[in-house]
Amino acid sequence: MSNLTPANLQELESALLQRRQELQARLDPEMHRSDEPDELVLTEPDVADDNAVVADVLNDTDLAELELDLAVIVEIDAALGRIKAGTYGTCTACEEAIPLARLRAMPSAHCCIACQEKSEQRQGFPHNASL
Ligand SMILES: [Zn+2]
Repeated sequence: MSNLTPANLQELESALLQRRQELQARLDPEMHRSDEPDELVLTEPDVADDNAVVADVLNDTDLAELELDLAVIVEIDAALGRIKAGTYGTCTACEEAIPLARLRAMPSAHCCIACQEKSEQRQGFPHNASL
């Protein structure tokens, strides 16, 4: 069971919504582009092929970041869904209450620190059998 007060829930929900808005803004390039036509003029039309490769790498990095942002939005949506369902603040693995300090630091947290560490150990070292 979670031991969050309604005020705690409200605080964490608005933190989630605010974070979601920030991520959404980053994911929507149209919002940045619309009234900044000068930026497009700055790109040089006759860049060497080497630079094009660098640009490709940068694009990949951007893409990876976007995917991360998207994953965080999915986590935030899941957390908002748990607030609605009344299960927010309870570890989804061991069903212990997640400490308020952890939720404040990471409002989308769906499990307690102990379970988080356990799942990271399971996923993090696939080749440790050779030791
Ligand atoms: Zn747990």
